[in-house]
Amino acid sequence: MNLHQLSTRCVEMEGQKQVIERLRAAFRSKMTVPLHFRRTQLEALLSLLEDNEEQILEALHKDLAKPKFEAALSEIDMVSNDLRYTICNLESWVQPSYVGKNLATKLDDCFVRREPLGVVLIIGAWNYPLQLIIAPLIGAIAAGNCAVLKPSEISQATERLLSELIPKYLSQECFAVICGGAEETKLLLQNRFDHIFYTGSQVVARSILQAAAVHLTPVTLELGGKCPCLIYGRLDIKAAAKRLVWAKFFNVGQSCVAPDYVLCTVEMRDALIPMIREALESFYGQQIQESPDYGRIVTDRHWNRLMELLGKSQGKVVIGGESVKEDKYIAPTVLVDVTESDVLMQEEIFGPILPILTVETVEQGIRFINEREKPLALYVFSDQSQVVNTVLEQTSSGGFCSNDGIVHMTLPGLPFGGVGASGMGSYHGRWGFETFSHRRACMLRGWGLERISVLRYPPYQESNLGW
Ligand code: NAD
Repeated sequence: MNLHQLSTRCVEMEGQKQVIERLRAAFRSKMTVPLHFRRTQLEALLSLLEDNEEQILEALHKDLAKPKFEAALSEIDMVSNDLRYTICNLESWVQPSYVGKNLATKLDDCFVRREPLGVVLIIGAWNYPLQLIIAPLIGAIAAGNCAVLKPSEISQATERLLSELIPKYLSQECFAVICGGAEETKLLLQNRFDHIFYTGSQVVARSILQAAAVHLTPVTLELGGKCPCLIYGRLDIKAAAKRLVWAKFFNVGQSCVAPDYVLCTVEMRDALIPMIREALESFYGQQIQESPDYGRIVTDRHWNRLMELLGKSQGKVVIGGESVKEDKYIAPTVLVDVTESDVLMQEEIFGPILPILTVETVEQGIRFINEREKPLALYVFSDQSQVVNTVLEQTSSGGFCSNDGIVHMTLPGLPFGGVGASGMGSYHGRWGFETFSHRRACMLRGWGLERISVLRYPPYQESNLGW
């Protein structure tokens, strides 16, 4: 079945409108509200992952040639951890939070109540095609919503698997998968949702915002950008190279939080390059294309874009550069002498190409970062806590991690999301629950102290000001 047939089949199986109406009716019935229902659905999601691990790994291998370890770690384990964490904590999260009171509200019950939003839409991207649908779904279920899931059509095997498994494990009244590409998604967006959670590119995010504006729908945008890695001062260069190579070439650089470029001094660059070469060889051997631990570029189109970038760059390739189109293979590639105006510095690379730019001081590095859009993640490698703290204090980014890459997003206690052009809103753990909840301000007042209330009724008396 080709891509178009699959999309057509999924959409035609049940019209989009009917699907949304079915979910809306379920939401109105309040069946998603009881804690027991939410827990049961979250547990079912956990079973979906456990029962179908082999099929999931197979689909991810078909889509991106994902090595088993990378797929298990970043798609299954990460999401399962979030699920367990959410199941354990949900009861405390749904409790009302009582707020401080003043003299005028002393006898009232004043609290914030988390309420579900309604029917939400979750649109995922292809690079972590399972994680980017299931992780937001955890928050949506935990908060008591119904959800329409729209996986990426580009990672077709995972899209198909999700459309088969979700109805088997979750309530069909409350959750549905709608397949398709840009055209089907645009149609879908004409419907009114109570929240749209979008993961993908900044370009498409603008049209998502426009579609959401029609219905005044709140939106979470999980976008990308160029994540810098500033390496400065004393450190174990061998260990730094290993962590950098792992974070950059995990999923062949197709991670929104992959280090996009390195900033360091000339001396550091010259010491780093042989260590990067050594790390690559120790990870993937001498024949990287043969390594089962190195994936592939998702499609020919994406391969062409990366090769075009590489071809147009004025930088000098010092590691890698090889590619095989039929295999969608691009070797881990490192470039030096890349200028600020180079083509590689104009857009998110999102592939296995790593430019190293030089700065003389940490202040210059900070200035370089601050002159650009706020990144989704910012990495600083240094043994000196003063360097780490200075970069942390003088920059802004969605997330921050010192002396490693990517790993900060695996902890469900930390919010995951961007700032500025790298996105708005966040999720994972409690943050996902909050994103899909309305925080309703409640004041329960009785009829006591009417004598004090009189002080605020007209005719107003100057003497009653500040009652
Ligand atoms: P993509 O092509 O899979 O698109 C994302 C989703 O948008 C898909 O479901 C697709 O069907 C839909 N879509 C595409 N065109 C559309 C249109 N015109 N109107 C409505 N919907 C449309 O993925 P992508 O956009 O190539 O994703 C890569 C980008 O996503 C990178 O910038 C990456 O950094 C970012 N990303 C961010 C995160 C994060 O969590 N912040 C995670 C993964 C990827």
